[in-house]
Amino acid sequence: MLGGTTEASELAQVLAEAQIDAIFSYAGRTFSPLPQPLLTRVGGFGGVAGLQAWLQANSITHVVDATHPFAAQMSANAVHACVAASLPLLAFEREAWQAQSGDKWQHVANIEAAVAALPAEPSRVFLAIGKQNLLPFARCPQHAYLLRLVDAPHDLPLSHAQVVIARGPFTVSGDKTLLQAHGTTHVVAKNAGGSGAQAKLCAARALGLKVILIDRPIIPTRNTTSKVAQVIAWLASHGAGTGNTERGE
Ligand code: NAP
Repeated sequence: MLGGTTEASELAQVLAEAQIDAIFSYAGRTFSPLPQPLLTRVGGFGGVAGLQAWLQANSITHVVDATHPFAAQMSANAVHACVAASLPLLAFEREAWQAQSGDKWQHVANIEAAVAALPAEPSRVFLAIGKQNLLPFARCPQHAYLLRLVDAPHDLPLSHAQVVIARGPFTVSGDKTLLQAHGTTHVVAKNAGGSGAQAKLCAARALGLKVILIDRPIIPTRNTTSKVAQVIAWLASHGAGTGNTERGE
């Protein structure tokens, strides 16, 4: 199981309770990843070939990709490695968020388009996109940025940035308080879907703030579900085993 999201952790709990023999994989982006109730490994596999070799060396029979919808490289690698290794793959993918009455969303295709969508005049921007894609926003130093990160950053590319260290899931009331305290005028977010990160959008709606929402990247076609129960049913229908097989890496 490829993880790294709130929803992946919820799925891991269900897999553990069902005694499904599974390994949880983290990329290793955070200093202290949440402990999982499954055997856990950390770090990249080394591209498609590395993943294929790892799957075969560990006698993996099924792959569940529960990575973030914006983890496009990992998800594409999983598709190609599973084809190469003749393994069944299911993506556990949150449904994209849809605008509701009162939302002031502007949809953009990618990070560059999100930078271009910001106003020219100095604004106060909640940049809710994690730490990996901040550099393009350095081209707009007139804005005061608010960042929310899991770990304290060491080398931020933005000069005018206030950083809050926190790990989701978040609440609407907490996010309203945060946005008001910062005097936020704009929220920039990825259309991640799911409940864990939705609070900021609900808070923005309640406060009448503009949201620049980045569309999901394109990922090769694969079987997908957004329901935990369907992951379990898929594993059962594909003959996944339970028990505590001893494994090593
Ligand atoms: P990415 O760009 O798609 O992946 C880059 C490389 O990181 C992959 O090619 C792979 O390295 C390694 N990798 C990614 N996920 C992995 C996993 N679960 N287990 C082992 N290796 C993994 O991914 P990303 O966007 O940097 O995301 C990294 C992690 O953060 C993912 O687990 C994702 O679920 C989580 N996350 C991402 C976002 C986001 O906005 N992108 C937000 C929240 C959480 P190799 O090629 O060497 O195998």
